[in-house]
Amino acid sequence: MPEHILVAVAWPYANGPRHIGHVAGFGVPADIFARYHRLRGNRVLMISGTDEHGTPITLVADKEGTTPQAIADRYNKIIGDDLYNLGLSYDTFTRTTTANHYAVTQDIFRTLYERGYIIRQETLGAFSATTGRTLPDRYIEGTCPICGYDEARGDQCDNCGSQLDPTDLINPRSKVDGQPPVFKPTEHFFLDLPAFAEQLRTWIDQQGHWRPNVRNFSLNFLKDLKPRAITRDLEWGVPIPLPEYANRDDKKIYVWFDAVIGYLSASIEWAINRGEPDAWREWWQNPDSRHFYFMGKDNIVFHTVIWPAMLLGYGAGGQYGANPGGKYDGIPLQLPYNVVSSEFLTMEGKKFSSSRGIVIYVNDFLSRYDADALRYFLTIAGPENQDTDFTWAEFVRRNNDELVATWGNLVNRTLSNVYKNFGSVPQPGPLTAADEQVLAEVTGGIATVGELLAGARFKAALSEAMRLAAQVNIYLSEQEPWKVIKSDRERAATIWYVALRCVDTLKIIFTPFLPFSSQRLHEYLGYDGYIAGPLRFQDVTEADGRTHRVLTGDYDQWVGRWEPSALPVGQALRQPQPLFKKLDEAVVEEELARMQSRAK
Ligand SMILES: [Zn+2]
Repeated sequence: MPEHILVAVAWPYANGPRHIGHVAGFGVPADIFARYHRLRGNRVLMISGTDEHGTPITLVADKEGTTPQAIADRYNKIIGDDLYNLGLSYDTFTRTTTANHYAVTQDIFRTLYERGYIIRQETLGAFSATTGRTLPDRYIEGTCPICGYDEARGDQCDNCGSQLDPTDLINPRSKVDGQPPVFKPTEHFFLDLPAFAEQLRTWIDQQGHWRPNVRNFSLNFLKDLKPRAITRDLEWGVPIPLPEYANRDDKKIYVWFDAVIGYLSASIEWAINRGEPDAWREWWQNPDSRHFYFMGKDNIVFHTVIWPAMLLGYGAGGQYGANPGGKYDGIPLQLPYNVVSSEFLTMEGKKFSSSRGIVIYVNDFLSRYDADALRYFLTIAGPENQDTDFTWAEFVRRNNDELVATWGNLVNRTLSNVYKNFGSVPQPGPLTAADEQVLAEVTGGIATVGELLAGARFKAALSEAMRLAAQVNIYLSEQEPWKVIKSDRERAATIWYVALRCVDTLKIIFTPFLPFSSQRLHEYLGYDGYIAGPLRFQDVTEADGRTHRVLTGDYDQWVGRWEPSALPVGQALRQPQPLFKKLDEAVVEEELARMQSRAK
């Protein structure tokens, strides 16, 4: 029975282009996981989009003298292009400014409010001393009470990263006129997290399969659970769906609240765009489906505590959750099955910083290097279990000494020799013990690599795939078919046949990690169709007449299967080319110089 797997990927924030650190932690691992499950024949729904509300986007808009929507439009396009070029096989990569997302967000807000899980609290709001108007958090500056940084903003400190309220600041002042703001009582809405504490504790206790740091961190967070603000004094966001707020532009839903709802709204959008508006329920209300969330470690509790609390509160209710008379009538939305958080990537020993030039953007990277080379590095040397460092020297070394020298070399010498001497898959003679052994070892990789992938152990899975490729290289070095062919053409044919079968099985094993080169190899081996692609964009027009672009693909047409090679004897090969490019050592100096010049 195919399983229903939801692959929920963190939403990149649309206030600038994304650098490789952004895609290392969640984008590439999530795609590997989704591709593996699709090849296994499971029904995968991989969803995400750009996160487009909140203060940072309005800051960029103010600086450029344009609207937040214009900034979101620009970076939604750039980020979508990056993800497409990296081969991230989303079923739906959308955005949070769609009418659909607004409707789903407001339904969840309204339902939680009606059930008493959203409470109103008076807090001190900041108002301009000169105009009396609301002063948005971002327009208030002062000294951070935690680190002492004297240009901390009213919503957060950029120096230590702490989330702040304007009343936390020491010596607060308005950025507009330098005057201290006047604090007056103002009403905000809070999610009543303590109401879910016991349910959450019981549930998290049962999640023995989570990574230990994720589970422990979440249980610790439960010890000091407070109601959390879900509205903000800000004009840019999803409107509060209560009659008294219908015409108010000064208070909106807080960006984090609508962003986590994106996992559900994007799933609903996928179903609508497919013309099967209830299809999303097969993942969200099917008790046998499993939901995997991929994100950086700074977002763990949003996915293990806060979003699950919202789901528990919403249950089977609301306009979307209810399915009267339907297959899923009364069945609550599914909680996460696993929360796969990654650690951080640094660059050349330092934290990524766009302002200091310590950065390499995805689009810049892909203008000079292949997507598979980046995917390889981020998987084999990325921040899966610990903070790791991207250095150009290590990127070049791993590309040349591992990807090119092991897997690339095996494919290249096998295909070029067979193409030149036979032109098609040769008829083998009787297999020797050595032939049987290498075939069995590589075939075993379908199970061993598959098990590691299913457990979200991507680095170990790719290492095992590379070990198998190295074994086939050893086999070829021992058998020396290029010498044997001079005296015994039939035996050489058998050795090359065995090597081709191994390459064909390894092709499928490498596909989740390296989809572009695997597709080319698939074609060189004489196959047709897409082993695991392609992606495409779709323009979606909603009822309000606005159109947005969605990244998607026709993944049910893949010809790839997570099975050992059944390469037919006699299949004509196509003219092969090397799968990967060897990089010149000079690349390191060039890229470091580029980084230097960006820092100026
Ligand atoms: Zn601080």
